[in-house]
Amino acid sequence: MNLFVEELLERKTLEDDKLLRLLDSEDVLLDESLHAAAHEVAADHFGKQVYLRALIEWSSVCRNDCLYCGIRRSNTSLPRYNLSREDILQACQHAYEMGLRTFVLQGGENPHAVEGLAETVAEIHASWPDCAITLSLGELPRSTYERLRRSGADRYLLRHETADADHYARLHPAGMCLENRLSCLRDLRELGFQTGMGMMVGSPWQTSRNLLSDIRLIERFRPEMIGIGPFIPHPDTPLGGHPAGSALLTLRICSILRLMLPDALIPATTALSTLLPNGRRAGILAGANVIMPNFTPKAQRSAYALYEGKNAIQVESAENLRQLKTELAAIGWRISASRGDYEESTQIATYNHV
Ligand code: SAM
Repeated sequence: MNLFVEELLERKTLEDDKLLRLLDSEDVLLDESLHAAAHEVAADHFGKQVYLRALIEWSSVCRNDCLYCGIRRSNTSLPRYNLSREDILQACQHAYEMGLRTFVLQGGENPHAVEGLAETVAEIHASWPDCAITLSLGELPRSTYERLRRSGADRYLLRHETADADHYARLHPAGMCLENRLSCLRDLRELGFQTGMGMMVGSPWQTSRNLLSDIRLIERFRPEMIGIGPFIPHPDTPLGGHPAGSALLTLRICSILRLMLPDALIPATTALSTLLPNGRRAGILAGANVIMPNFTPKAQRSAYALYEGKNAIQVESAENLRQLKTELAAIGWRISASRGDYEESTQIATYNHV
């Protein structure tokens, strides 16, 4: 085993210079070593059971104008939709029948619609009390997060996007800043949400030092969930001419974070599967333990175009589910029947202020 990987496995951290060397290495043997170690940790920790999350993209309406994102406000070529309460409940019912026990409601940032959504969240909570509800609705006032938590939401995903304030400013319009993002993450944690953060790998102007700062931020905050996917350009955005991020580097960072935070819930993301045909398998073999199949109604799915070629992970039919099971069985994994909450092992849990 590579010496740095061995040290990371043992100490669950590494000095900056060693992490940078891992990030910058061109040695393919390093990836083999890193993935194998991370896979073993995940396999051991989760008993080779993958958690499935039903992704329901409830709205493509967004007040924000993030320079990389296809659903940004200024993209007028995109049809906008809000799923109705009935559509959302139907998607949950469908996912429940397929055996999924977490619903993820994700959408553009749209504070005006959140009150209505909170009522739907309460209804989901009452109808499927054995399921977890995850939200990913962007930056909202603490009182709104509180309202959503009271309605029955358990988890919240809010990627920090980049831990470098200057880099953050280049990716976002004036008015958005890293400090607010981090303040939202602190609010979410204080309100008792299992909290997810993460970033795109290969976003324009990103350096290895930026990625090192991302890893350090995640290491300090110790989120329950970590979402990492490659940047993929969308032609109708200001950053549409930039190249896509590297799937291999994304996998490498998944492995590093798995070794640092063995308990974290880490998905093999949709963006990874979009760039890499066997992305979900590769993700699991690099330390991921979550897959998020898409349950957005087909009629609206193409309007939730965050980036070009977005390749939904599908488990809507018994046939899709059987395929996924076969794919996982080939690497010795199976689908968990539980709702897959974060569980801390004996590692010392310290929440450091960020
Ligand atoms: N509005 C919510 C928020 O801001 O967290 C959730 C929706 S947002 C579209 C979900 C995630 O999509 C973002 O956190 C971002 O990392 C990712 N994303 C957006 N555009 C992307 C792109 N071009 N390539 C890869 N990921 C992208």
